[in-house]
Amino acid sequence: MSARTDARDRVSARVRALKPSETLALSARARELRARGERVVSFAAGEPDFDTPEHIREAAVEAIRAGHTRYTEVGGVGPLREAIAAKLERDNGVRYEPKEIVVSNGAKHAIWNALFTLLEPEDEVLCPVPYWVTFPEIVRLVGGTPVPVTPRPGSYKVTPAELERALTPRTRLLILNSPNNPSGAVYSPGEIAALAAFVRGHDLFVLADEIYETLVYGESRHVSIASLGPELRERTILVNGVSKTWAMTGWRVGYAAAPRDLADGMERLQGQMTSNPASVSQQAALRALTGDPAPARAMRAEFEGRRDLVVRRLRAIEGVLLQEPEGAFYAFPDMSARIHSARNGVHDSVSLCDYLIDEAKIVCVPGSAFGMEGHLRISYAVSERDIVDGLDRMEAALERM
Ligand code: PMP
Repeated sequence: MSARTDARDRVSARVRALKPSETLALSARARELRARGERVVSFAAGEPDFDTPEHIREAAVEAIRAGHTRYTEVGGVGPLREAIAAKLERDNGVRYEPKEIVVSNGAKHAIWNALFTLLEPEDEVLCPVPYWVTFPEIVRLVGGTPVPVTPRPGSYKVTPAELERALTPRTRLLILNSPNNPSGAVYSPGEIAALAAFVRGHDLFVLADEIYETLVYGESRHVSIASLGPELRERTILVNGVSKTWAMTGWRVGYAAAPRDLADGMERLQGQMTSNPASVSQQAALRALTGDPAPARAMRAEFEGRRDLVVRRLRAIEGVLLQEPEGAFYAFPDMSARIHSARNGVHDSVSLCDYLIDEAKIVCVPGSAFGMEGHLRISYAVSERDIVDGLDRMEAALERM
């Protein structure tokens, strides 16, 4: 073999440096255990456990019959972009022209488009901790440098002062994900206003990942930073999609909304990479956005009930600290006290997860995957029965640790 095809060289350094997705790997491990006949409770899911509502599935069947089977406009069909623009104005108070919206193969793809379009090599990107696992990976892939910004202990939201300390002349972008994966934290209207002032004052862009927008509970309210005036709209790429709100993760439809120059850039990029998102999925997403909202409301209500149950149960376990999650479908308890007192070799969030899988057959995701040691991400996109059973097992396994 020549040096060029030597095994070490075959995968590029950039791809070798990519972390495998921890959340997907753990879900795969849960499936493996189940296949061996174990009764596993998986708290690793990053998607709703509900089926896509019937009227949306029906729209897809109709779309196939009506011949929506060809390439479409790269950035999405006109009626879908118009429906997204109407949604952004109605729900988020920010106006976009359909041409300022690019529909992609899921929100993840929209984030890739946004970062590739916006960043120059060596640009720094502020990534508040805990962050969704994919953000720093995509930033690195497109040649940028992720800069993690950790809030004070016990908080899961960063302040302008904390962001300020991480600024350098190369800082170009802040990634804001509220409601947050993995913590469930939701920035309040006042906190969003403070971040907006920070962004304005430092000539930064914002990538606002609002994919969990509708999943907020109690008194919490989601605010789009782009709605805080023309200056903010000018510097924001707003990312959202139908995956979480409508239980449509498999359909792969997400979108980015941004000022025209950035939207044109993203569309050009997508045109060379993937072309349009699947034509049938676009018709399904159109029905989601324009049809009966009741099924989404019902799923949200179900998640809220489960959140209350998870909070009650986790807080009853000694040495487990939990900030009440206000949104998404995750709880992010601080297990540090239990990890420090363990006598069985458990010494961090990864070894705690391994122990819980082996001992209790429950699957959680370690906080280290999200940049925050000592924590576990527990997804409550599972039935109440599994929540009760899984947390019973967790409590008993922690006693034996
Ligand atoms: N952003 C966040 C914060 C997420 O948690 C996820 C899904 N795990 C996505 C984006 C990706 O969504 P999609 O399935 O639409 O690509």
